[in-house]
Amino acid sequence: MIMDSDLARRLSKEHEYYWRPILRDLPDAWVSALLEFWQRLDEINTATPPMSDRRYVWVALRYDLFPAGLTAYASPAVNLRRWTPAHAMALIAAIDEFHQRLQETCEQCGSRTGYRHKTQLDIGGYDRILCEQCGQKWEGNPFAER
Ligand SMILES: [Zn+2]
Repeated sequence: MIMDSDLARRLSKEHEYYWRPILRDLPDAWVSALLEFWQRLDEINTATPPMSDRRYVWVALRYDLFPAGLTAYASPAVNLRRWTPAHAMALIAAIDEFHQRLQETCEQCGSRTGYRHKTQLDIGGYDRILCEQCGQKWEGNPFAER
């Protein structure tokens, strides 16, 4: 699963404060979840996108990518005195909903009916989030139709 290079280039330009190179390894089918997440962060920021001034970006992001998932971490990028409890809750909710969304979005086709297809990791397999249809076609699935 690797993002289309034109799409990755466009995202890195248009969302430079949220983008990290590790995101190039995400499937294209997860990009809409990523854009929704960033849009929610924009609601916390005081800048109007596209953001040209880093001082108005409230949240610095980092990501960990692993098979069948991505974890986003956020830290405050502006003085804590500017934050309200509502800002903090909005940030936590945005991250939580983003993680939930990835766990139910098929990494192949983007359908919201995906679920974790487990493989035997000890024999070189890796878990994937796939819908029923894509799971049937995936060669790592021991019950796949051949
Ligand atoms: Zn699918």
